[in-house]
Amino acid sequence: MTEPKDLSEYNTSACPKCESENITGGNVDIDATYAWQSVWCNECHYEWRDVFKLCGVEDAETGKAIFEKKPVNRDTIEDGVISIKWGVDDVLGRAIELKVEIDESDAEKILSNILRRHDAETGVNWDVIDCHIIMYLRDKEKS
Ligand SMILES: [Zn+2]
Repeated sequence: MTEPKDLSEYNTSACPKCESENITGGNVDIDATYAWQSVWCNECHYEWRDVFKLCGVEDAETGKAIFEKKPVNRDTIEDGVISIKWGVDDVLGRAIELKVEIDESDAEKILSNILRRHDAETGVNWDVIDCHIIMYLRDKEKS
């Protein structure tokens, strides 16, 4: 068996093996916050299960949310991995401090530069972001 692919690549209306759209969904089994649906391919006869996770609870009559997933701190620890996330808002905030003008698209490009060029020794911090903003604007001026 090969490594699982990213879920975003999954076409929910096609067989994951032969890509035929001639597929049939079976019963759904539910266990608290998970659900599984068996699906089979009528072309190659492959059978698989789509796995669903509970994402909310709503009133049956009004459809109004009773429980929903609240946005959490961007910094997370999950499955033994910490993620410290920097966003467009952080870059835009630093640009204001530096008294330079950039838009969201610039901030995204700057973030992408930070991601590509960051090194583990320095990490990502406000000084690094400032440097990237300055370098980005310098390169933009040149071109
Ligand atoms: Zn198939």
